[in-house]
Amino acid sequence: MELSNKVVLTAALTGAVTPKSINENIPLTPEEISEDAYRVWQAGASVVHFHMRDDEGLGTMDKEKFKQTLDLLKTNHPDCDVVINCTTAGDHRATDDDRMAHLPYVMPEIASYDAGSMNWTPDGVFENSPQFLERLGLKMQELNIKPEFEIFDAGMVGNVLYYASKDIVAKPLHFQFVLGVGGGMPATVESLCYLKSLIPADATWSAFGIGRAHQKIMFAALALGGHIRVGLEDNVYYARGVKATNVSLVERAARVIKEFGKEVATPDEARQILSLPARNRELQDA
Ligand code: ZN
Repeated sequence: MELSNKVVLTAALTGAVTPKSINENIPLTPEEISEDAYRVWQAGASVVHFHMRDDEGLGTMDKEKFKQTLDLLKTNHPDCDVVINCTTAGDHRATDDDRMAHLPYVMPEIASYDAGSMNWTPDGVFENSPQFLERLGLKMQELNIKPEFEIFDAGMVGNVLYYASKDIVAKPLHFQFVLGVGGGMPATVESLCYLKSLIPADATWSAFGIGRAHQKIMFAALALGGHIRVGLEDNVYYARGVKATNVSLVERAARVIKEFGKEVATPDEARQILSLPARNRELQDA
């Protein structure tokens, strides 16, 4: 089957914020996160997006936690070839340096790149300064790590196109449209259509809606030819009053993709679709 019929399914397991008191299925420790990563891969996830929590359960960019988690996944589940995607925004207290320290240390294949600043209403300012974005883009290019441009608002697409024109970020571009965050674009089909109209023809894109909007955006993204992301980082309920697990969300997304007449991309197919550098396992093992 052609790659054009394949959908990259990303699982975002943890996030930086939601406490276990809201949904006890959110994995927090390296052991829990690595086990969930394995289980969602078995359920069909092509990519896993990783965040870390500290011992109090708060978001952290501690590079040792990233390493411990990815080492556990590799050691306990050597058969798991899921694409590794690490956040660069997992702790609002982290400095710009903290946000990049894990990249050379664990060498993820993809890392998130939040393409601008905004008010994360009502919590605070989500700061991604031009200086930081330039450093992050160059660092990721140097390390051959693919940026996933997280787009919360339309102006952020313009930022990415600017950095691409200055060779600060490498092409082809891959966007992740994040809809429904307070202060960002609303989680509507119209938002998605508009964002899609702004990106270059050779770019790839994926999308998700926060909370109750997750199904609407999942179906819309599929209908518009995009890739999709699900997981407890974005949404903790499977249905009204029913708590989700990462596996239940991935299993549903995989079913939806199949019912739509498409197929879930294997990790290696996702690598081709996203033009990831042909990274062999030896490099990661080194
Ligand atoms: Zn994230």
